[in-house]
Amino acid sequence: MDVARLNLSHEDHATARKTFELIRSVDDTIPILFDLQGPKIRIGELREPVNLKRGSAFIITVDDIIGDEHRVSISHKELPQDVKPGDTIAINDGIVKLKVKGVQGSEVVTEVTHGGPISSRKGVNIPGIKLSCGIPTEQDLHDLDLASELEPDLVALSFVTEPAEVKRVREILTANGPADASIIAKIEHMLAVKNFDAIIRECEGVMIARGDLGIEVPIEEVPILQRELIRKANLWARPAIVATHMLESMTHERMPTRAEVSDVAHAILDRADAVMLSGETAVGHDPPGAVAMMNRIIKRVEETIPPGNPIEITSPRKMIVEIIGNLVYNAVCLIPDKVDGIITATRSGFTARWISKFRPPVHIFAVTADIRVMRRSRLLWGVHPVHYEQDIDNVDDLVKATVQVVYERGLISRDKDIVFTSGTRHIRGRTNVVALFHVRDLVE
Ligand code: PEP
Repeated sequence: MDVARLNLSHEDHATARKTFELIRSVDDTIPILFDLQGPKIRIGELREPVNLKRGSAFIITVDDIIGDEHRVSISHKELPQDVKPGDTIAINDGIVKLKVKGVQGSEVVTEVTHGGPISSRKGVNIPGIKLSCGIPTEQDLHDLDLASELEPDLVALSFVTEPAEVKRVREILTANGPADASIIAKIEHMLAVKNFDAIIRECEGVMIARGDLGIEVPIEEVPILQRELIRKANLWARPAIVATHMLESMTHERMPTRAEVSDVAHAILDRADAVMLSGETAVGHDPPGAVAMMNRIIKRVEETIPPGNPIEITSPRKMIVEIIGNLVYNAVCLIPDKVDGIITATRSGFTARWISKFRPPVHIFAVTADIRVMRRSRLLWGVHPVHYEQDIDNVDDLVKATVQVVYERGLISRDKDIVFTSGTRHIRGRTNVVALFHVRDLVE
């Protein structure tokens, strides 16, 4: 695995802290992603699970009651203000659907349009509606306090609807830490799809969160959106994570279904940077087995992708780092048999991200003195981060030191070439040098 996600919808601070410390103690090169819950709504307690019948009336109330087949309470206390007649309320992963008929004080009166089972604390979605509680929620702020203390490498925001929400979380992270955490916007709301082009510019990556997205939009739209959103994320050099139900049946079974294997394969062919497991590893009966299966599928599919796969060349901004990324990619493609890797000396991981965008057919060795940059870079497609303990800022010494360290770790051969890239001044966003070297000329 390359990244560990802590889903704060399901963990209190004591448990999250314990899991966090456990991961760090086992392997401190694994980046940890704090996944903030966002405005996730849940129904309250039910006396017993009930089966709602199509056509029957059902009341959702903000009062604290124990629910039954006629009514249930809800965690989102502004619900009566946020919905209007005609809106849809989905419960239990969208299996049950209610149509809002009207609002009476603290009660939302609905009609069941898709019947089915509900039980205590099942999730609720209101497709297309922007909730008044805003992002980050009170709970997210509380969880960001924990982030400031534990310093995860990445922070994911759930139910993002507009770029201002990402900016707000960035401000909080900048003020309280960890200021360098990458922000991953989870795309699981209709408005996130609509505002995707603006959201992508504010974050360092996206997650196609297909669980909630498949309730927010018609389910048959999900594969189409998946492909389109990955393409756009790739254009802007933002890693895209495809999540949910990837090997779902492995939560209980030893083997995935053919359809699941195909789904993982298609995410890779769609050019996802990462594929994510949830229940399979959180509550499944064989988490290592599920990770190993995912790896087998990824490795096999990647073998079939030819180098030089056509890709949209540049984003509309055509930044220098992007032109450099393209030059590096083309250099490798001209002599793929001679080149053993791309070496980028990086202080922030920014250059590695823009080279990864082009999907070059050799490893990108991102050499950095910052362990946090090293960890974050593991999310990037094709990037093999290398940590070293040096602080050099002139290019000649940098070439020698980075090639030497990658060589010493046994990652490149003395008889091959490497493509090197860095900045002349070696600061974020100033990557402007590309050079080719025979490894033997630089290593001792
Ligand atoms: C999803 O909805 O697909 C998702 C990844 O979100 P979460 O697991 O936080 O519900």
